[in-house]
Amino acid sequence: MNHNSTRTKKKRKSSGHSLFREYRFELTVVSIFALGVFLLVEKMKIKSYVYRLIIAIISAIKSLFFYVMTTILKIVSGIETSDIVGIILILIAAYMVFIRTRFRIFRRYASLSTCPTCDGDLKRTHRTPLQKLIEIALFAKVKHYSCKKCDYTGIAIGYRSK
Ligand SMILES: [Zn+2]
Repeated sequence: MNHNSTRTKKKRKSSGHSLFREYRFELTVVSIFALGVFLLVEKMKIKSYVYRLIIAIISAIKSLFFYVMTTILKIVSGIETSDIVGIILILIAAYMVFIRTRFRIFRRYASLSTCPTCDGDLKRTHRTPLQKLIEIALFAKVKHYSCKKCDYTGIAIGYRSK
């Protein structure tokens, strides 16, 4: 009997919870709508600091948005065909330097099998935030090693697929 009553309690509780979950979207929409109507109706009456602050923030965001848009438009309309060719050439040159540098780094840190200091065995350890940044910047795989015998640590950098 006791068991049965707890079960009923549980059931009722869970059904109430799911009811709220089911209509959560509608409740949110109604709340937002009511707030909007309230602000429209009470517009003349609300003179609180919070309201004025919100209005100030919104207008600041609006003017910042317009400033950014007009700046972008000015830059875009000022670009000529010869500029585009120049920009493309600079980007190609930068890409070639990046590929070459990446290749040199990969060759320099190709692999690490034993400790260069004491010739001991190495084990993989967690990568530092800087090493994770290097992975993203070079689109590479960084392996962080530490020596089992001494306190040497080193890295190996290679292609992602490895
Ligand atoms: Zn060592």
